[in-house]
Amino acid sequence: MYDLIIENANLVTCDKNHNVIWNASMAITDGKIQIIESNSEKKFLDLTASQKIDAQNKIVMPGLINMHCHAADSLFRGLVEELSLEAWLQKVWIAEKAILTPKTTYTGSVLGLAENLLSGVTSVMDMFWYPNEAVKAAGDLGMRISTGGIFFDYPGIGDRSHEDFLQEAEKFFEDNNINESVFPGVMPHGTYTVSPEHLKEAKKIAERHNGLYHIHAAETLTEQSDIKERYGQSVIRHLHSNGLLDQKAILAHCVHLDDAEIQLIADNESIVVHNPMSNLKLGSGIAPIHKMFEAGVTLTLGTDGAISGNDLDMWLTMRLAASLPKGNTLDPKVMNAKTVLHMATLNGAKALGKEDKLGSLEVGKIADFIFVDMDKIHAVPVFDPITHLVYSTCKSDISDVFIGGKQVVSDGRITSLNIKDILEDVRKLSPQIVASLR
Ligand SMILES: [Zn+2]
Repeated sequence: MYDLIIENANLVTCDKNHNVIWNASMAITDGKIQIIESNSEKKFLDLTASQKIDAQNKIVMPGLINMHCHAADSLFRGLVEELSLEAWLQKVWIAEKAILTPKTTYTGSVLGLAENLLSGVTSVMDMFWYPNEAVKAAGDLGMRISTGGIFFDYPGIGDRSHEDFLQEAEKFFEDNNINESVFPGVMPHGTYTVSPEHLKEAKKIAERHNGLYHIHAAETLTEQSDIKERYGQSVIRHLHSNGLLDQKAILAHCVHLDDAEIQLIADNESIVVHNPMSNLKLGSGIAPIHKMFEAGVTLTLGTDGAISGNDLDMWLTMRLAASLPKGNTLDPKVMNAKTVLHMATLNGAKALGKEDKLGSLEVGKIADFIFVDMDKIHAVPVFDPITHLVYSTCKSDISDVFIGGKQVVSDGRITSLNIKDILEDVRKLSPQIVASLR
């Protein structure tokens, strides 16, 4: 007797071999995948379960892993437009300072995380000012989250000192180390906003707790010249010479890199998060992901916040990740759909240190999976489900989401909380948000 059996599924496993099983069944008990079989094997006919779900005309695949987000920034979507990163950030920080409290951060986090969840994201790496609020929001939605104490040397939100950030980062690990849905880390904002000494102190905390280290890196040319002027070397070399590049270092953006820097990232087995939508809209540039892939860098994908890319859409992210290198090199073979699908699934799990538990549908792994509706005008016929997922699927195609075997989205609706209440809270707050920049 199983807890749940999914029947008649077109299973895109995202395992190492990219196996696809048409007309499959998957049995789940205690939140884990117990059996995956093709229906032609007929073994499932005799199995019983508390619940059986018919997944006819659905692709069933692992939940997506969004490796760079600022969920609560959804409060500010559309507020600051069409500026380069540096000028844009100055305005964003004014608005954030005027609006953000732990309470509004919770509201914004639910808003941003719910958009992720409804589009099929089951785990998010989130960097924000009040990480405990993002953890609470993720918990209320039933999602997994990687976050942790932020570091920022200038007057930030809540007027906290570096000592405050150190304490908060330490406490975050103490509070969250036993929560199975939270993957704790430290989140220093960037090399241009945090001094080398403080970056190293943040790293020490992460190392003490075996945690992740997430930072913006090499996003714009202005940032590169700023860091070269201050420290005499590029962002990636600066991180490396301060001992900050290793397997736990997760570098968001990496748009402007020379070949030696790419090799440095590969040699240190650091992770890169590609955020193509945000990079394009802020005019930051196009990251050389085909070169990083060739060098053996583990590439993952992120949406960044809705305030820069205006959309938390991992499907658009995948399509851009697969298409931009082709346009850049005039070579349609340079980046294939299977590789990109792994960036959004198995590679994310590897980056989180959970490759043995998440990121693919395999027996023994945690049952985080989604249904992609194929009963759609743009989904008939589907000859290759993997190219369909990368080049044709949109976030509104996601009908159902399961995390740890528990259904958290049913037929496009969040099951755990009333999202309309959150929307009402945000509507009430929006006059203040607009006024923050006047
Ligand atoms: Zn970011």
